[in-house]
Amino acid sequence: MTSNSTLYIGGRIRTGDPLLPSATTMLVSGGRVVALGFTEPHDVPAGTVVRDLGGATVLPGFIDAHVHPLMGGLQLLATGFAGIQSVEGYWAELRRLDAVTPPGEWIVAAGYSAVLVARERITRRELDAVIGDRPVLMVNSDLHGGLANTVALRAAGLLDSQEFSSEYVERGDDGAPNGLVNEEAMARVMSFSPPPSEAVAEKALLEAQAHLHSLGVVGWQDALLGDKHGGEDPTARYLALDAAGRITARVSGAIGWDRARGVEQVPDILEHARAFTGARLSAPAVKILLDGVHEAGTASMLAEYNDAAGRPLGNSGPTMIEPGLLDEALVALDAAGLDVHIHALGDRAVRDALDAVDAARHANGHRGTRHQVAHVTFIDPSDVPRFRELDVTANAQLIWVADDFLDFAQYEIFVGPERRARQSALAEWDAAGFRWSAGSDWPVSSAAPLDAITAGSRRRIHGDGPTGPLWQRLPATRIIDAYTSGSAFTSRLDDNGVLRAGSHADFVLLDRDPAGPGPANESTVLETVVAGETVYAADSMP
Ligand SMILES: [Zn+2]
Repeated sequence: MTSNSTLYIGGRIRTGDPLLPSATTMLVSGGRVVALGFTEPHDVPAGTVVRDLGGATVLPGFIDAHVHPLMGGLQLLATGFAGIQSVEGYWAELRRLDAVTPPGEWIVAAGYSAVLVARERITRRELDAVIGDRPVLMVNSDLHGGLANTVALRAAGLLDSQEFSSEYVERGDDGAPNGLVNEEAMARVMSFSPPPSEAVAEKALLEAQAHLHSLGVVGWQDALLGDKHGGEDPTARYLALDAAGRITARVSGAIGWDRARGVEQVPDILEHARAFTGARLSAPAVKILLDGVHEAGTASMLAEYNDAAGRPLGNSGPTMIEPGLLDEALVALDAAGLDVHIHALGDRAVRDALDAVDAARHANGHRGTRHQVAHVTFIDPSDVPRFRELDVTANAQLIWVADDFLDFAQYEIFVGPERRARQSALAEWDAAGFRWSAGSDWPVSSAAPLDAITAGSRRRIHGDGPTGPLWQRLPATRIIDAYTSGSAFTSRLDDNGVLRAGSHADFVLLDRDPAGPGPANESTVLETVVAGETVYAADSMP
């Protein structure tokens, strides 16, 4: 026991524990925190290593409550459109890929801006003109939609099919598919492209883990296990890596709900959850996709979308699960002891989600289930108090509220200025007693918690420009709580999120306090520790 004890001294430890919010020394042994305080504990085991933190700030390690590491890792490995700001740039990247990919093979590249493509009215015609002789699928940065060329649409059988409504397979004025495909329709196209090999997928997952550790993340909820929505199912890769002792993070899984089936799938979900266990793995949750995204017009709103000129479009987004069926699903999942993680951006989807939790709480009583609604971009004022009443956590993607985060700052062209002004009213919702968790939705947006803390507290990620109104911001300390204890709660990582005697020794060292003056992302992650072991150290660490 003696050799793995470390006494940290000289730190500024923010514990997250209301009983002892700060400390300067911390004794860690056997992967857990043994003692915290302001002086050396009396019973330090012989052979304990002493580390002077030299005034560095210590926080409980961040937990990302909504992230897609396999997809993120594949994007880290692959080329994509991330960082390219023009359609000409997308075409140049595709021409480059065309030159290095054997003839006839698929090209799938991700990370383009749906807003940019919508604004420039790009369709498969323009894409065909760049590459017309092999299947090409461009996946947008929100992962909910894509643009396929004619060869890819034909390969997937969607060129002449009426199977999907125009919300999923978008159509031009001539009534023919214009190449833009959303949700299940994009998944259909993707299912015809070859999946990554197991070796590539494992490499991607390890890259993602290293990336997340470098940002101070010690654990996460993988927001989609199962292959219900077209992406690669990471389940088998996690299990293989965990069995080999290579998963260093704490992973909580959310198993995808199949919208094509009903409550008869609950036993299958329970079986999947049982199988997803390991040293660092568990799957306490079920993910239900209840709407899409605003830029595709698929987020479910109470009122209609409008065009750039503010004219109503006669569409308020699809109902992806009929409310009666959703209630049934929630009642059954809740009765089975599963936490439900519902994707809802639009105010109608949020209401449907709350109604379904209400049905579950009525049918089953409060069984301690930890349901959460992720994204919550718009909430009707009448629904705001219901989060507290129903004990539902709001899972926030705070980078999305920043005015310098391209896609979401431009919501106005989809929902108009009035609704845009009510978007993400963070302080107002917080005052209604919200319980928060926080997630990145990486690779949809950056995985860096320090960027999210900055965005949520200043409504900007970078620079000194104007910050948003106070009622649309949260104090940095609130966001840190969301990213630690709040996310640990909804991920059922109950020994995480707070540093106290007995908790996991999972923490992050920073060169300065992200809740201090100035933007949080001016802090640097120096080291990330899980179970007392260093899983990331910056080059500058001694
Ligand atoms: Zn997601």
